[in-house]
Parts: sequence; structure tokens; C-alpha cells
Amino acid sequence: MSILAPDVVRETDAFPSARPMTVTVTGAAGQIGYTLLFRVAAGLMFGADTPVNLRLLEIPSAMRATEGVVMELEDCGFPLLRDIDITSDPVRAFEGANAGVLIGAKPRTVGMERADLLAANASIFAVHGRAISEAAADDVRVVVVGNPVNANALVLAHHAPDLPKQQITAVSRLDHNRAVFQLARRAGVPTSEVSRLAIWGNHSSTMYPDITHAVVGGRSGAEYAADTMWLEMEFIPSVANRGSAIIEVRGQSSQGSAAFATKEHMYDWFCGTRPGDWTSAGVWSSGEYGIPDGLVCSMPVTSDGSGWTVVEGLNIDPLSRRYIDTSIADLLEEREMVKAMGLI
Ligand code: NDP
Repeated sequence: MSILAPDVVRETDAFPSARPMTVTVTGAAGQIGYTLLFRVAAGLMFGADTPVNLRLLEIPSAMRATEGVVMELEDCGFPLLRDIDITSDPVRAFEGANAGVLIGAKPRTVGMERADLLAANASIFAVHGRAISEAAADDVRVVVVGNPVNANALVLAHHAPDLPKQQITAVSRLDHNRAVFQLARRAGVPTSEVSRLAIWGNHSSTMYPDITHAVVGGRSGAEYAADTMWLEMEFIPSVANRGSAIIEVRGQSSQGSAAFATKEHMYDWFCGTRPGDWTSAGVWSSGEYGIPDGLVCSMPVTSDGSGWTVVEGLNIDPLSRRYIDTSIADLLEEREMVKAMGLI
């Protein structure tokens, strides 16, 4: 007799039918990678009928730990998981990849300035950009998760010049999800009743969670935004500082929620956003909403499964403009830093 309730769908109940996806995950043995991989193998990133081949890239010192991750993945018996390869060679890791999830990066440590983090990590993304260019499938879609995500994605794009810029993105979905939750809590509705929220700018403390176009339990988000005291003193800081709040309470950075956000980013990109709703992603800018060309900037986007489309025609009020411009200045400053390092 089954001990499962009849309406419970187990992660091993998928019935594969679609073309297999080859997915490269860098930093596979790290905290986010470890949490993410089981979701990918369960069919939660590309859909429950899509088999996956995993290509796990790690630095040599983490290879043993990666072998342990592979053993655990094997022990789940995922029906969608066709093949796993582990390597510390980026070109081999990206061979034939249809999707790249780039998590591998040095973590920020106490006292580290943004320039130090950029210096430590941006060069990794130059190497990975070249490897993707050389080895990945032409239609590969890449999400950068390792911080600082926007600058790293910019560097990657520069080193993969033949890859269409629309195929390179940076994750801002955790900021988006955090903002959805905070707004739902303020309105006293479930998160399922919040739609059309947007994160603009850099994945840093300057990102701007824009609720002016949101729909919240049937009401306009602009009604909540009109309470500027709450908006600027509570809501925006609560989203911007949530990462440090979690470190303070949990003693470690966000991993479960970061992995979940990464999965959601890829799922929506490949399988489509909810009808009538949009989400946020760091995408290549080409002059939308006064954002200068050639930045990887978070914007409101939709997907029909074939790619991201920036939501057009939104009216940006003066307060939003001020916040967006501050975050754009932050992105421009990072672009100058990576230029000064000779990485772009
Ligand atoms: P995590 O898996 O916890 O984090 C990985 C990266 O994701 C970090 O840069 C982290 O930034 C970033 N991140 C966290 N949350 C978010 C978010 N919401 N949005 C965007 N980015 C986010 O780190 P671990 O140290 O556990 O794992 C890193 C792995 O990478 C290790 O296994 C290591 O071996 C590998 N590595 C690979 C390198 C290479 O390829 N050359 C170099 C160094 C490490 P933050 O630190 O700011 O939280």
C-alpha cells in the first residue's frame, strides 16, 4: 500500500519524452550548486519531460567533494538524469552545453571591497566566456550567479563575442522574489496574488524593487508606493538588506533561496513566464528606459520559452527614475572597473 497521498507527485515520477538538455553547472560542489543540482535532475528547471545531462565544473581542490555530490545524485535514481560528467577543464565542461549555470566564484569575505571581489572573480568569467564560445551549443543560454553577477556577465559576453548577447543573463530573481514576499506581507495576501513587480539595475544594494506597476490582491501597487515613508524606509531597505539579515541570523549566506531563484530564472526562460505576469532578469541593455547600451541590467521581462523580452511602455515616475539612475551609475562604475582591469 502506498504511503503517499494520491495527489502527491514525487520528484521521481517524471516521464521523459523531450530532447535531452546538456546543462553545465560551475561551482557544482558549492553551497548553491549542491542545492540546485537535485532540482535540475528532478526536472524542475527545464520541465518534467526533459531529460538532462549534467556537466559539473569545479576547481581541482573541490573535485573530491564533487564526486560525493555525483554519488548522491545517483542515489536519488532520477529518471530524467541521463549522464553526469565532472571536470576541472572549462572547455570540456561546456562541450555541447544547451544551458550554463555559472555559480563558481570566490565568496565575498569580511573587509573585501567591491574592486577586490571584481578582481578575484571577473577573470573566471573571461575564461568561461572563451570556453562557452569554443565548445557550447550555438543556442546555449547562460545565467551568471557568481557575484558580482552583472559585471561578471559583461566580462563573459566580451569573451564570447560570437554568442548573441540575448543568450547571456545575470540572476536578479532572488531580489525579485524577496520583494514579492515583502509586498505580499504588507498587503496581507499570498504571494500568488502579487504580479508585475520589477527589479531594476545592479544586483547590489542599489537595486530598485519597483512596485508602481504591480497588482497586489486586485489593487494597484502604486497605492502602496504612494506611502513613500514605508516604501523608502521599510520596503526598499528590507529587500536590499535581506542577504545580510540572513547571514546575521543563519550564520551563512542565502543558499536555498539563491538556488531556488536560479532555478526559477531558467525555468521561466525555457518554459515561459506566467500569462499576464512578468519577472525580472539581468539582460543586455540596448537603450531601454534610458539605460545606456551594453550593460547587463535587471529589467522586467517576459518569456514565451524562446527568450526574454523586456516589458515595454512602462511609465517611470520621478522617484523610480531616481532609484534606477542610481543603480545605473553603479553598473557604469563596475563597467569602468573591469575596463581598467583590461577584462573588457
Ligand atoms: P555559494 O555557492 O554560496 O555562492 C556562489 C556564488 O553565488 C557567490 O559568488 C555568491 O556571492 C553568489 N550568490 C549568492 N547569492 C546570490 C544571489 N542572490 N544572486 C547572485 N549571486 C549570488 O559559494 P561556495 O563558496 O559555497 O561555492 C562556490 C564554488 O565555486 C565552490 O565549490 C568553489 O570550489 C567554486 N569556485 C570556482 C572557481 C573557478 O571556477 N575558478 C573559483 C572559486 C571557487 P556572495 O559571495 O556575494 O554571496
